Amino acid sequence: MDELEFDRLRDKMIREQIRGRGFDNEKVLQALDNVPRHLFVGEADRGRSYGDYPLPIGKGQTISQPYIVALMTGALDLAGGEKVLEVGTGSGYQSAILAEMAGAVFTIERIPRLQEKAREVLDYIGYDNIFYKIGDGADGWPEEAPFEGIIITAAVREVPPPLLEQLVTGGRLVAPVGGPREQELLRLTSREHGFEKENLGKCRFVPLK
Ligand code: SAH
Repeated sequence: MDELEFDRLRDKMIREQIRGRGFDNEKVLQALDNVPRHLFVGEADRGRSYGDYPLPIGKGQTISQPYIVALMTGALDLAGGEKVLEVGTGSGYQSAILAEMAGAVFTIERIPRLQEKAREVLDYIGYDNIFYKIGDGADGWPEEAPFEGIIITAAVREVPPPLLEQLVTGGRLVAPVGGPREQELLRLTSREHGFEKENLGKCRFVPLK
């Protein structure tokens, strides 16, 4: 498959899966159009990389379904210039989408090999506003806190308290919260006295470990 064919598949993905579901955040749509999703999966999966589903990326992990990436990114409500924390680098695809829209992306992954592979692709594309760390994302990144946005791309029973502490007032945290089979996609907005909670619908992620 050549680049023109991938461009065509990406257009179709945006039209049918994203706009087709009523999603109309133009900044997110532009980011989805800019990022070559096929580079974030194994060579054998490239032809399927614009499909309406998650795909395996090795080590039992997955690259999220495109629509879920759009939904979660939109929920962060980025205007540009923000510091964003991502828990679970995985393939690096979500990191790229965030790097298109925010000032700086701080991404944490527990499996070194996955982050190395992600970084190779992200460096190849040329992002210089992504910062990498290996470790337990539940601890967040205290040295770089606070963040205007935090995104957890693995399922949690409850949001780890250190992450809530690392949000600025007015900042948004988006995470799949629930059991291993199904979660609710939640957006928590940090307010002077506590957190405002919104439910964005059901989703299914691999668990945070
Ligand atoms: N954002 C990714 C999706 C990643 S899947 C993408 O766009 O491809 C979830 C990722 O979270 C996996 O790579 C998994 O290894 C990682 N993960 C699981 N538990 C973690 C933890 N405690 N800290 C950091 N990363 C974790």
